Amino acid sequence: GKGAAMVTAVAHRLATQQAERQRVLDELRLSREQLLEVKRRMEEQMSHGLAKETHPRASVKMLPTYVRSTPDGTERGDFLALDLGGTNFRVLLVRVRSGKRRSVEMHNKIYVIPQDLMQGTGEELFDHIVSCIADFMEYMGMKGLSLPLGFTFSFPCQQNKLDQGILLKWTKGFKASGCEGEDVVGLLKDAIHRREEFDLDVVALVNDTVGTMMTCGYEDPLCEVGLIVGTGTNACYMEEMPNVELVEGDEGRMCINMEWGAFGDQGELDDFCTQFDRVVDKHSTNPGKQRYEKMISGMYLGEVVRNVLLDFTSKGLMFRGKLSERLKTRGIFETRFLSQIESDRLALRQVRSILQHLGLTSSTCEDSILVKEVCSVVSRRAAQLCGAGLAAVVDRIRQNRNLTHLRITVGVDGTLYKLHPHFSTIMGNTVRDLAPQCDVTLLQSEDGSGKGAALITAVACRIRDAGQH
Ligand code: BGC
Ligand code: MG
Repeated sequence: GKGAAMVTAVAHRLATQQAERQRVLDELRLSREQLLEVKRRMEEQMSHGLAKETHPRASVKMLPTYVRSTPDGTERGDFLALDLGGTNFRVLLVRVRSGKRRSVEMHNKIYVIPQDLMQGTGEELFDHIVSCIADFMEYMGMKGLSLPLGFTFSFPCQQNKLDQGILLKWTKGFKASGCEGEDVVGLLKDAIHRREEFDLDVVALVNDTVGTMMTCGYEDPLCEVGLIVGTGTNACYMEEMPNVELVEGDEGRMCINMEWGAFGDQGELDDFCTQFDRVVDKHSTNPGKQRYEKMISGMYLGEVVRNVLLDFTSKGLMFRGKLSERLKTRGIFETRFLSQIESDRLALRQVRSILQHLGLTSSTCEDSILVKEVCSVVSRRAAQLCGAGLAAVVDRIRQNRNLTHLRITVGVDGTLYKLHPHFSTIMGNTVRDLAPQCDVTLLQSEDGSGKGAALITAVACRIRDAGQH
């Protein structure tokens, strides 16, 4: 009768809606073949970035870091370190002890970089950084001391030596004027001189990936790769000097800052991108740039999720078809919410209360299930893409050394990697699957980037002091 027809109609509509949701989510699911293709294209870009001839056109810049050796345990002293470009800006005092009491002790203070300073003038930004250093020295009771300083600066820099680096492009929402194309160590020194209060001996400019690799290398000599999955994403690794065409000399190895976040900027990821990735890119501070980073890192994943939810809602597939102002607001899904929503220990009721906390009040129980599914599809893709890139890196190292089998440790840091309940597992499984000839250990670093800058400074000082004696 009529009733039965209505039930059938409703069932049919629900099935159609479900099919439409899955059709959309399927675009965000990558097959093993696709991941292998990502790995292959990453390998190709790595070679392009390293070779002189193709370097200018390569999306992955493969920047030499002038870091050639890892700490050997004989370095010692007190060092200052700055850490700019992650979730927090920090100033650190690092005490490195050698010999039997070999250890690294750290004190640090976190400072806020207000949004308007990130996007104001370079002078204002660096004046602020120097005033934080002054505050820290006062706080530590070290006013007037001039310590060697390591500067962790987590942006792409072209280096010609350890204590210099030209900022190629801001990333991750930074946009301060007058910095791109300039030597950031010079910008820092200028700001120190403007203040006329103290002098600092800037010894090393270090990418956070490199700092992380060094920190983990201090504990584990097999660590020859550094990886960050936080606000942004990037990796570094030890490359054979003959392959580093941008630097003279064929002896030994040098750490290469890959700047892999820019993978895809020449269209290498277009086959795997969705409409959601394109919208997120379009509304970012750097459209067309850092396309791989925008599919992986914490600053963007929440935005991808939000755009999927917007799409579903506007098609009447969730939130009862009601587009709330909240859902239209950029940046509401921070990494920590994503991580909470995907936690297995969380009951659906709690997912719902997170959504309510985010201002998405009209959600039903089905909505909560769906939000969780969207989050997990988006973060799984991120972890797999990251794992595919890492597989390219470790396999390259293996081939460099003509090995059929390589044991290697990857030092990892970053808020997304650390907070997310499944990211590390999925990424680890992907690397093992796509690079079966490598035995990869993922080692989470504690405070890697700041500590690493101090260790690199310590190594540089050790070598410099040895040269003076
Ligand atoms: C930067 C890299 C950095 C990474 C992780 C990217 O946006 O370009 O230099 O290592 O973020 O912080
Ligand atoms: Mg960091």
